[in-house]
Amino acid sequence: MPELPEVETVRRSLEPFIKGETISHVQVFLPRMIRTHDAETFERGLAQQTIRALSRRGKHLIWDLDDWVMISHLRMEGKFLIAEENVPKMTHEHVRIQLTRGRHVIYHDVRTFGTFDLYQKPVTLKTLPPLKGLGLEPWDDGFSAAYLNAKMHARQAPIKSVLLDQSIILGLGNIYADEVLFCAGIHPRTKAHKISLKRLERLAECVKTILTRAVELGGTTIRTYENTLGIDGLFQNELYVHTLENEPCRICQTPIRRIKIGGRSTYYCKSCQH
Ligand SMILES: [Zn+2]
Repeated sequence: MPELPEVETVRRSLEPFIKGETISHVQVFLPRMIRTHDAETFERGLAQQTIRALSRRGKHLIWDLDDWVMISHLRMEGKFLIAEENVPKMTHEHVRIQLTRGRHVIYHDVRTFGTFDLYQKPVTLKTLPPLKGLGLEPWDDGFSAAYLNAKMHARQAPIKSVLLDQSIILGLGNIYADEVLFCAGIHPRTKAHKISLKRLERLAECVKTILTRAVELGGTTIRTYENTLGIDGLFQNELYVHTLENEPCRICQTPIRRIKIGGRSTYYCKSCQH
């Protein structure tokens, strides 16, 4: 599943192809992906709109159009592909956006969990349903150990589960949560409220360092996920624990363990994280 660095990589690779372009025609092949409108209204609404910018909040892509803001989410396996000319409808293609200069933006999604929401301007982004209540990204003002402490002091759940809660840290998923806990030397089952302020300082630093590095490397390519346009991320070469069950820890040689926390596979080193 794409996490913040992978979605940011999608944004960066897609934006040059679409920014400043005008939409001529939209086709929705799977209407349930459009959550705010019926397919016909969505198609009509987007026609003749110019794409002014493509931004991102957490794992959401935000399309700034003339009269609308469109928010799309790739969920498990969604991806945007670019065709320079009209190509036949692909298997697993669910939305096609044709641009006036001939390019086609194809939304491809094998698992079909992806979503599109459309809101008429003017809007206040943070009040829109998909973005409401989201926590802070590590680069936001106010992201600090004190912020984490305020959010976590009442949480009895294991820190691994709390790190996946998008209302606290925005954009962390299963891969980076494991890596962040390794970096901070915290056992994934530790109850969130028991972590000291000093250790939270280390955690905040690790979140920032790891997500920044992952964005620089274009994200992580594992299993079936690859980003838009087939560009592979390189962060998988820098993983310390995630997917590395039974491999020797890169710091202490102890075999990496895999456990389940909240139904999610969790990888850690029992010597480095306690
Ligand atoms: Zn270790």
